Amino acid sequence: KERNGHEPEFLQAVEEVAETVIPYIVKHDIYYGKNILLRMVEPERVISFRVCWVDDKGEIQVNRGYRIQMNSAIGPYKGGLRFHPTVNMSILKFLAFEQVFKNSLTTLPMGGGKGGSDFDPKGKSDNEIMRFCHAFMSELFRHIGPNTDIPAGDIGVGSREIGFLFGMYKKLRNEFTGVITGKGMTWGGSLIRPEATGYGNVYFAQKMLETKNDSFKGKDVIVSGSGNVAQYAAEKVIQLGGKVLTLSDSSGYIYDANGIDIDKLAFVMELKNVKRGRISEYIEAYPTAKFIKGKTPWEIKCDIALPCATQNELNEEDANTLLNNGCICVSEGANMPSTKEAITAFHKAKILFAPGKASNAGGVATSGLEMTQNSLRYKWTREEVDNKLKDIMSDIHKSCLEFGKDEDGYVDYVKGANIAGFVKVAEAMLAQGIV
Ligand code: NDP
Repeated sequence: KERNGHEPEFLQAVEEVAETVIPYIVKHDIYYGKNILLRMVEPERVISFRVCWVDDKGEIQVNRGYRIQMNSAIGPYKGGLRFHPTVNMSILKFLAFEQVFKNSLTTLPMGGGKGGSDFDPKGKSDNEIMRFCHAFMSELFRHIGPNTDIPAGDIGVGSREIGFLFGMYKKLRNEFTGVITGKGMTWGGSLIRPEATGYGNVYFAQKMLETKNDSFKGKDVIVSGSGNVAQYAAEKVIQLGGKVLTLSDSSGYIYDANGIDIDKLAFVMELKNVKRGRISEYIEAYPTAKFIKGKTPWEIKCDIALPCATQNELNEEDANTLLNNGCICVSEGANMPSTKEAITAFHKAKILFAPGKASNAGGVATSGLEMTQNSLRYKWTREEVDNKLKDIMSDIHKSCLEFGKDEDGYVDYVKGANIAGFVKVAEAMLAQGIV
């Protein structure tokens, strides 16, 4: 706390893990007295660099770029890049720390990292995005590689940005390797990767519902966000017979009481991914829906809630509103969308609650599958990747059950995910000695 007190999001993520993992360490001699958690919270390496680029008016812009190489005990650093004006050291350290546990849970050999920039892609032309990505990679390329550190996308970094970043890496290194994941289908990308985080979240929620002999069929579902994760979470819910009532962005949320069906979702995908518009434009196409400005969707009555936008978007008051409205399941698509107090409220009410490091791990798991295909110079079919994704989400769910069951039978998925993720990384660190 003394060392990281000025980094609130990082502290929040560490505290959540410490509360569940320390009691476990105390009970197990192999971890006790080795300062293992203290070693895990200190990044192996932090890189901060200047990114200069020229905008369309010819003016020189300066941004700050980062890469946090958090832990490489079980594999090369792996984690996304975020381009958003709120990006700072605290946000990236929290994301990198979470990534270590998440990657461990996937069962694949991947360490944890995260990076990005305070660059704001909103309102920028394609040429500006390209110049920024090229400038960013002209420094980052020194620190990454297919066996060292493999970045991917995150907020503000989608397929367009990944293309520009990969192009510059390839030019500077003069080699074609799987150094970045989320690549296009014609140049090394994996089928199902765009869908993986959203689909994986719904597969995980489905596993949780099965423990209560329940399913998505006929359920009212609210989704926040309207980016990559939200879009594919919504798609899978619709395929499984659920009714998606909301989507949002940073300006507010839309509520469609008739349900957002596949055709309406296709409109949202075109709006967000091609036209780069705002979610409020939905009501121009579907006037019976409502746009609620400046708010999050948690006030809408639902059975299942899928927070898929950003960190700390669901607080204690929102949690109580959801519970009072009869919500039975919350599965996080975003990273740390629920505050600590909100999670406490869900646990107290003993509803099904999945933390992002378990339920959104499908994205990075499929990135791991993309790395495997790149190394093999091979391509699996859509069904093959989707089946592997389903298996991985099911395995993560099993790990959570193994470590998260309380004495009264309630499954604390936060505890389960933290301990299961911790055990594998801790064992590797102990085996490798004090380095
Ligand atoms: P996108 O950039 O595609 O979409 C982000 C969405 O969240 C947009 O609708 C955006 O609205 C909204 N949003 C962003 N910041 C805020 C904010 N401060 N307040 C309200 N809404 C906001 O990102 P992704 O869908 O890829 O990522 C969403 C979440 O999922 C993040 O937490 C990310 O870390 C996590 N995640 C993503 C993975 C992936 O594979 N993509 C993997 C695992 C986790 P607006 O357009 O107005 O900014």
